Amino acid sequence: MSNMTTPNESSITIHELRKAYGRPRAGDPAYAVDGISFDVPKGKFVTLLGPSGCGKTTTLRCLAGLEQPDGGRIVMAGQTVFDAAQRRQVSAEDRPIAMVPQHYGIWPHMTVLDNAAFPLRHGRNRKGQQNVKQRALDMLDQVGLSGVAERWATQLSGGQQQRLALARALLSEPEVLLLDEPLSNLDAKLRTKLRLELRAFQEQFGVTSVYVTHDQAEALALSDIVVVMNQGRIEQIDRPERLYQQPKSAFVADFIGSANLIPVRQASSQSGNVLANTHIGTFTCAGEGQDTPSAGGNVCIRPENIDVEAAGSHRNGLPGQNRMPGRIIGAEFLGDRLELVIDVEGTKLRASAPASLTARPGDAVVVGVQPNHARYIAS
Ligand code: ATP
Repeated sequence: MSNMTTPNESSITIHELRKAYGRPRAGDPAYAVDGISFDVPKGKFVTLLGPSGCGKTTTLRCLAGLEQPDGGRIVMAGQTVFDAAQRRQVSAEDRPIAMVPQHYGIWPHMTVLDNAAFPLRHGRNRKGQQNVKQRALDMLDQVGLSGVAERWATQLSGGQQQRLALARALLSEPEVLLLDEPLSNLDAKLRTKLRLELRAFQEQFGVTSVYVTHDQAEALALSDIVVVMNQGRIEQIDRPERLYQQPKSAFVADFIGSANLIPVRQASSQSGNVLANTHIGTFTCAGEGQDTPSAGGNVCIRPENIDVEAAGSHRNGLPGQNRMPGRIIGAEFLGDRLELVIDVEGTKLRASAPASLTARPGDAVVVGVQPNHARYIAS
């Protein structure tokens, strides 16, 4: 973000944003949002991701103008909508945004059509709007709701209400779409279906979007860029693949997907790789994104990158560097794969093995990892 785009390409710039509920001092964890900065490039889908209470919703509400921040600056589509130094706070109605809240914000006493047409009749850009009914119907058609346009909004299913909220938001032609966990009230299958639809609409309309979720799968599937937050601060800003493959902290490695984190006693450099000494053996960590070696830190290995072989059937000889003997202590059959827990000298490693692997709890195995799948994380 700040280093991925120039300010002119950004639709939103957030600089040193700070928000407390109550009166904490700087550095106090009571800051719900603690001096965060990032840019959202025009037309991109950016997700704020993190555990409950990390400050995602507060950040989104500051963007929407629903909270008054304590410090920092927010610029949207070239307009400074908040600047603490200049005591400037543009009201929510005057910001170039539309918001889809968690509970959709549908008007129950209106029909589906009137709900959709609401921003054209009453919104920020209501003046001079023509063909209101037809445009609302066209949009409802796009989200698959034209057949229920005359129904009361309360007669829609959860998924239909979510589509209506999206249609209404897009009809207001916002520069920025703000979405606060809009899929969280739906069942798992519908969530997956609607997140694909949501992303397709966002791309079709090219609207810059900021999305809040605590669901890492949703964030990885939907986003161009993910902002991982923890305790009011930013842990990492990156593309989904990089977040997964090159987490910059143990927190991110653990929060995004599943990770084995093996504490490191001492790490050093060798031929461009990191040699990480742990109590279960030494790992060679190779490839991009390794941290500078130091004392401490962790080796991060994803379960799907752990190779498991029955002891005695070593393809590559005896246990050695990146290869350790262990014993299976748990195995779950998940149809397409086996999820194993393997005890290696008292450390429990999780591994995803092919369903065809015949090993079962109690069996002795050798676990291994390719150097380019082992990542050294200093913090
Ligand atoms: P969740 O996923 O649970 O919604 P979040 O990451 O969106 O969490 P926020 O809702 O932004 O987190 O909350 C950040 C912190 O601010 C939390 O410690 C929360 O308790 C606190 N907080 C949020 N809203 C208020 C409020 N209106 N008054 C006081 N404290 C608040």
